[in-house]
Amino acid sequence: MKQKKFILQEKDIPTQWYNIQADMVHKPLPPLNPATKQPLTANDLAHIFSMECSKQELDQTHAWIDIPEEVREKYTYYRATPLVRAYALEEALDTPAHIYFKNESTNPLGSHKINSALPQCYYCKMEGDTNVTTETGAGQWGAALSYAASIFGLEAAVYQVKISMQQKPYRSIMMRTFGATVEGSPSMSTRAGKDIITQDPTHPGSLGTAISEAVELATTTPHCKYTLGSVLNHVGLHQTVIGLEAEKQMEMAGEYPDEVIACFGGGSNFGGIAFPFMRHNILDGKKTEFIAAEPESCPKLTRGKFEYDFGDEAGYTPLLPMYTLGHKFKPANIHAGGLRYHGAGMIVSQLIKDNMMHGVDIPQLETFQAGVLFARTEGIIPAPESSHAIAATIREALKCKEAGEKKVILFNLSGHGLIDMTAYNQYLNGDLHNYSLSDADIRKNLESVPQ
Ligand SMILES: *Cc1c(COP(=O)(O)O)cnc(C)c1O
Repeated sequence: MKQKKFILQEKDIPTQWYNIQADMVHKPLPPLNPATKQPLTANDLAHIFSMECSKQELDQTHAWIDIPEEVREKYTYYRATPLVRAYALEEALDTPAHIYFKNESTNPLGSHKINSALPQCYYCKMEGDTNVTTETGAGQWGAALSYAASIFGLEAAVYQVKISMQQKPYRSIMMRTFGATVEGSPSMSTRAGKDIITQDPTHPGSLGTAISEAVELATTTPHCKYTLGSVLNHVGLHQTVIGLEAEKQMEMAGEYPDEVIACFGGGSNFGGIAFPFMRHNILDGKKTEFIAAEPESCPKLTRGKFEYDFGDEAGYTPLLPMYTLGHKFKPANIHAGGLRYHGAGMIVSQLIKDNMMHGVDIPQLETFQAGVLFARTEGIIPAPESSHAIAATIREALKCKEAGEKKVILFNLSGHGLIDMTAYNQYLNGDLHNYSLSDADIRKNLESVPQ
C-alpha cells in the first residue's frame, strides 16, 4: 500500500514558533523612520501594532518563541494539517521526483492566513485593545482576521482591494458574516483613499492603497491596532507552524526535501514552510534549494531592486529594506490577488541577497494550467496564488524527468480556490491573459522609491 497522507496528533502541534532572524548570518537591515531615517524600536512600532508583535518583529536573538497556550488551543481546532504525497500528480507528469505538499487549505477559512490572525488578535486583546483593522487583497487575510477578531471579542474593520472585491464578492460576504465592516479600497472614508481617488478615479486598488487606509484608521482611532497578513517578520514567524509540522511529517515519510517551494506575495507562507528547513541549511550544512514563485506580472524578487521603500502606496509605513518594484507600482489585475504586492518581506529580501533562496516568475496562464492539472489529479482546486507554487513544482518535476533525477520536492498548498470559481470560469472559457512587463515599465516604477 502506498502511504499518501502523513497525519500528526494534537500533541505534535508545535509549542514554539521558529524565528530565523536569530540564526541568519547577515541579519535583515532595520526598518527606518521615514522622517529621521533612524532605525525603529519596538516602541515606535507599537503605535500601530500590538506590543508583542512589535517585539517579535525586531527580535534577532531568540530562535524559539513560545506560542501562547490560548493560541495553541485555537490551532488545535484545525491543526495539524496533512502532509500529502502527490502520487497522482507525479504519475501525470511521469516524473521520477517525489512530490509532497503541505495542505494549508483544510481549515474553514481556506488558507494559511489564520495561523497569524489568531496570535495577532490574541495579543491585541491581551493588551487591552478593542478594535483591529487591516487590508486584504483577494480576501483570505480579511476573512481570517474577521474570524479571529470575532473569537477574541474584537471589532474588525477591513479595507479590501477594490478590484478583488468586485472579482470575488464572496469573501467580503464571509467577512461580514464573521461580523467585520468591509470597505473597497481606495475608499472615500480616509484621507489616503480620497487622495488616491482624486488622482485616479478608476484606481483598481492594490494592497498598497488598502494598507494606507488601514494604517490611517489605526493611528486615528483609540484602542485600534493595525494587523498585517504578510510581509512583516512577525507574520512569517507565526507561519512557521507550517514548516515545523512538515519537518516531522517528512520524517514520518522517511524523506528530506531537496527543494522547498511556495508562492510569494509578501513571503509569509513561503517563510512558514521554508524557514524551519532553511535552519538546517544554516546550522547543519543541508543543501535544500528554496524557490519562491511569484507572478510574471509582479516580479519583485527577480526584477525588483533592493532598496529602502515604503510598504504602502501613500507612504505612511516605515521605510523597509526590501526587494521592491516601487511603492507606486500598480500590478495587473491577475486573479492571484494575494500576490499583487510591490515588495518582499525584509527577511526574505536579505536571504535573496545572501543567495539562500531564489525567485521564479510564472505567467498567469501557466499557473491556471498547473492548478487545473492539480485539481484533476489530486482532487483539490487550488487558490490561484497556490497555483504559482504548483506551476513551479511542475517545472522542477519535469526537469527531474529530463535529467532522470529523483529529487524530493515539497511545496506549500497555501489555500483552496473554491471561492475563486469566477477565475477558473474565465480560464476555462479562454478569457485570461498573461501580463509581462518591459524593462522600461520596471525602471519607471522604481522611480517612486525614495532616495
Ligand atoms: C495571501 C495569500 C498568499 C500570499 O501571501 P504570502 O504572505 O506571500 O504567503 C498566498 N496564498 C494564499 C492562499 C493567500 O491567501
